[in-house]
Amino acid sequence: MTPGEFRHWAHKVVDWIADYLERVEGYPVAASVEPGQIRRQLPSKPPELGEPFDAILRDVDAILMPGVTHWQSPNFFAYFPCNNSGPSILGEMISAGLGVQGMLWATSPACTELETHVLDWIVDLLGLPADFKSDSQGGGVIQDSASSATLCAILAARERATAGQSNQVGVRAPLVAYATDQTHSSVEKGVRIAGLGSANLRLVETDGQYRMIADRLGEAIAADLAAGRKPCFVCATVGTTSTTAIDPLAQIGPICRDFGVWLHVDAALAGTAALCPEFRFIHDGLDWADSYCFNPHKWMFTNFDCDCFFVRDRTALIRALSILPEYLKNKATESGEVIDYRDWQIPLGRRFRALKLWFVIRSFGAAGLRKKVREHVALAQELARWIDADPRFERMAPVPLNLVCFRHRDGDAATQRILDKVNGSGKIYLSHTRLDGRLTLRMCVGQTNTQRRHVEAAWRLIGQAADELAANRTAES
Ligand SMILES: *Cc1c(COP(=O)(O)O)cnc(C)c1O
Repeated sequence: MTPGEFRHWAHKVVDWIADYLERVEGYPVAASVEPGQIRRQLPSKPPELGEPFDAILRDVDAILMPGVTHWQSPNFFAYFPCNNSGPSILGEMISAGLGVQGMLWATSPACTELETHVLDWIVDLLGLPADFKSDSQGGGVIQDSASSATLCAILAARERATAGQSNQVGVRAPLVAYATDQTHSSVEKGVRIAGLGSANLRLVETDGQYRMIADRLGEAIAADLAAGRKPCFVCATVGTTSTTAIDPLAQIGPICRDFGVWLHVDAALAGTAALCPEFRFIHDGLDWADSYCFNPHKWMFTNFDCDCFFVRDRTALIRALSILPEYLKNKATESGEVIDYRDWQIPLGRRFRALKLWFVIRSFGAAGLRKKVREHVALAQELARWIDADPRFERMAPVPLNLVCFRHRDGDAATQRILDKVNGSGKIYLSHTRLDGRLTLRMCVGQTNTQRRHVEAAWRLIGQAADELAANRTAES
């Protein structure tokens, strides 16, 4: 493809994306294809000769689109959002166009310096502890996901707890990590990968609102110490995946500090809310944290992948992850004046991800970002009031931000039928969780373009599904 041909097709692709975004609201939200349905339509062998680009684009429409779930639909309420926005897509395009590999400062200085700068901006935007800024002992880095950020935090904690021993000879004495049964599965995965072992992950008891009970944490740590084990890592969550419960950082933090245990705070979805001063209560006690992460790729209108990971003191992180082979040695690294982000993450290579975040922040402005977040939270709170006022439904958890958990009062079977019905309609997409064993619907208001009319229509649809359930039961009896 010559640059001239590229220009031609790039314009077509941009039109394709703009058309898609204009029409996405009308598509069935969740794809409804059978396993294997997409692959069956693809040739078994790759083409020997290059194909015209219009043929490739045609197959995107004909073969792939039926198998796409429309995460960018304003009727997407499932899981947590995974948003994009115009400026973010444009940032991705330039990142792809430049094709930079920013493993070292020296391999593309702008990639590293923009990232450092934007992450310092984020500290101010979210009112995070000043210790997370690059002019302190700590700093921030963009990771692909919260899972990677958490794994890096565990490796840094492991490094600190063993003064480098685990890096050299592997994990010997049992190191112990602490979370709750509401903590995201990425923590257990990280504990496995880091060699601590799932058996050394303690699930601390939660209270009636699914928050870690700090006293139970202190007791668990003390018991492990008494048994000769080494407490190493605590993950507290701000906005759990099931219910957006907020662990009490201000109580957990002093316990971690007393015992010298690394405190990581996972705010993958909820962190974005701290753009608004009135929601910064979610971070009360964050000053105690050794590390913190949140995902602009969830609720801050920035394409996947983009997780912001901060540490209070970068020493342990870099000691855990830095190895310098001859072929990467360079003057800038040796001078100690630059950041080499390869030492802050698992892979060596890295994309120019700061571009899309920079585009988003500049294009929305802090006020524009806050406005969206406030709208989403207000809509979710309104939905919660509608649910509370409806005798057919019961709400299952507090709604501190933008996720509403509820169920039909008739129980799991009725709740399941409502979920199947509304998702099967293609008009909206909800997901579920289980709370105290009970099937619960999750409706998260956070897609970039979700407005009041979308939430109203969704609630009407849920109500109709409940009506039909009741009508069927009357007919059966
Ligand atoms: C979504 C989520 C994660 C996982 O995020 P990835 O970026 O996909 O790894 C981790 N923790 C919490 C609380 C989440 O909600």
